[in-house]
Amino acid sequence: MATPWAPCAHRPRQLSPRAQELLSALARQVVRLLELHRANDRQGQMLAELDAARQQMAVLAHTDVLTGLANRRSFTERLRQEQALLQRGNEPACLLMMDLDHFKRINDVHGHHVGDQALQLFADLCRSVFRASDVVGRWGGEEFLALLPATGLEQAQAVAQRVHAALAEQPLPGIEPPHRLSVSMGLTLFDPLRPLDVTLRLLDSAVYTAKREGRSRTVAV
Ligand code: GH3
Ligand code: MG
Ligand code: MG
Repeated sequence: MATPWAPCAHRPRQLSPRAQELLSALARQVVRLLELHRANDRQGQMLAELDAARQQMAVLAHTDVLTGLANRRSFTERLRQEQALLQRGNEPACLLMMDLDHFKRINDVHGHHVGDQALQLFADLCRSVFRASDVVGRWGGEEFLALLPATGLEQAQAVAQRVHAALAEQPLPGIEPPHRLSVSMGLTLFDPLRPLDVTLRLLDSAVYTAKREGRSRTVAV
């Protein structure tokens, strides 16, 4: 009986030594190519991780870890930048130095962790009271500085009052008897021709005056 399909044309054959050699070389190249692709993927991944770490480092270098505000170095850079802009005729800007009142007592009475929470609470309050174009920095311990670009003295006084009012409204959470933070502030128009350290000393003395006059107030100089 005839086969219903054509006989298979494929028959096992012996590869010549040359063909075997070529096939082995091809197999080696495929393996190398695969390894290269894998190494490329790994390298791409490592570069992406490195880039993310670099970006994180840049943020950390400019940020105060506890409060998330600008740190002293970053704030000083921004001050120098604003000083240069003002020298070129930018709109007037104001500077506000803020020192939390009787802060040591919070640590002494409720513990350092409550002190830390109070600093974070103050930073949150600043983020909600100041405009996005203002820069608030942690100058040290319980001292903060705010730069208010394109802001006159009267407007800045109003912002300072908002800070006092917001603090008076918000007791520290979880503390009995209720405790409200208050802050003493020094305010000045940013004079770009005055050396920065002189401006800061002036603000410092305004804060000192505010403390002497009873705290929880702003003194403009
Ligand atoms: P005044 O009203 O005169 O400013 O009094 P004060 O107690 O706020 O000022 P003083 O300079 O005597 O104390 C500041 C305190 O702030 C002392 C320090 O332990 C505390 N402090 C500074 N940095 C931190 C911090 O990161 N965390 C906590 N919890 N406390 C801090
Ligand atoms: Mg202080
Ligand atoms: Mg203080």
